[in-house]
Amino acid sequence: MKYISTRGGVAPQSFEEVVLAGLASDGGLYVPETLPRFSEAEIAEWGGLSYTDLAFKVMSPFVAGAVPESELKRIIALSYQGFRHRAVAPLVQTGANDWVLELFHGPTLAFKDFALQFLGHLLDYLLDKRGEKAVIMGATSGDTGSAAIEGCRRCKNIDIFILHPHQRVSEVQRRQMTTVDGGNIHNIALKGNFDDCQNLVKASFADQSFLPEDRRLVAVNSINWARIMAQIVYYFWSALSLGGPLRPVSFAVPTGNFGDIFAGYLAHRMGLPVDQLIIGTNANDILHRCLSANDHSRRELIHSFSPSMDIMVSSNFERLLFDLYDRDGSAIARLMDDFRTDGTLSLNPEALDRARSLFASHRVDDAGTLAAIRAEYEASEYLMDPHTAIGVVAGRACRRRPDVPMIALSTAHPAKFPEAVRKAGYPEDPPLPHHMADLFERTERYEVMDNGLAEVNAYMAAHLSA
Ligand SMILES: *Cc1c(COP(=O)(O)O)cnc(C)c1O
Repeated sequence: MKYISTRGGVAPQSFEEVVLAGLASDGGLYVPETLPRFSEAEIAEWGGLSYTDLAFKVMSPFVAGAVPESELKRIIALSYQGFRHRAVAPLVQTGANDWVLELFHGPTLAFKDFALQFLGHLLDYLLDKRGEKAVIMGATSGDTGSAAIEGCRRCKNIDIFILHPHQRVSEVQRRQMTTVDGGNIHNIALKGNFDDCQNLVKASFADQSFLPEDRRLVAVNSINWARIMAQIVYYFWSALSLGGPLRPVSFAVPTGNFGDIFAGYLAHRMGLPVDQLIIGTNANDILHRCLSANDHSRRELIHSFSPSMDIMVSSNFERLLFDLYDRDGSAIARLMDDFRTDGTLSLNPEALDRARSLFASHRVDDAGTLAAIRAEYEASEYLMDPHTAIGVVAGRACRRRPDVPMIALSTAHPAKFPEAVRKAGYPEDPPLPHHMADLFERTERYEVMDNGLAEVNAYMAAHLSA
């Protein structure tokens, strides 16, 4: 299978090149040239499969030719063996026809483990095959950093450097990054904010001369195609558990960069009957404004109780726009150009109508988030994290058919966000799962550094494995 850029400016690329490159050289995002399409009968046959066997069925068409089947099976098995639930992604019933898909049973208690466990093992395999080593560099405001570190900790071909803003991530989040053992793992606490971290990462990608000739930087942020691909699986998985594909289901997804819900859109395009895809946003509501009022304009960042959704622009939305505009790369390039210069873009009426036929959206502010956590706990003693709460509220607000099962994606374990959960009225810090109960006793390792490119790059160059 080949991959093309949403801006139409590069020749079709192989899976391997796309995973190692991240962003396309024309500034666009990679998407498959054609999507695999499964019939209802084919999907129905997957009903009894284990999560990992299903993952193989769903993902193998995308990697055809790049990774042999036996290797793909091995990579998938390694990726999900560390999940602490036999179902990997269990469904919990919270109402007559309402369900929560718990995506937080991975090593860092957030849904990002689904993609980053897989990506770590995949990269290790691809690098091995090429006889190369690579350096992962990323900035994090919380969940991505720890999931990336856990995903790469055992990868012998990868050194990983994660920058977080010093004293501006929660203690649980920091400890999840800084207590992981491994000579190839390096945490940098930068004296600055998240933007400063991101700017240093961008500048390092633009000029990699600080690295030896035989190393390159690899991006593991949510625009990496392999991350999207791995997320498609749990949409099939949960629908199959609730009677799909013979009856449709709907999904409600707490959304930031649009990577998670875009995977749901792909599942639908691949043949899974989906009635609605519902976007839940916090006060950073660019996607809700776009769908409800055709106002896709950049606004100031607002810090919320759902920090993993605090974004100004949803980078993966470009992938949906590409389809809404009939895969016209030059139209998308123009649109994104306008957006860069004006800070805003509006969709043409046909594109907007098309989006609205499948997607709906709802905005939930901090007060609404806390109220939802409290109400759900009082009604059924089910404790949700603040991101999950936003998805649940959005699903209820936008649902058009009560007879269609509503699956709200739970993207994080409540113990990751004790402050919000307590503010919602829960009497104590929600307990961490057993395997993490000693998180606060583990030794931390990180380097506090000034916000300077040369200094950070020199540190990296000095700490590469042989
Ligand atoms: C990353 C994240 C999200 C947002 O997912 P996107 O793919 O960026 O839309 C939601 N909830 C949690 C807990 C996350 O870590």
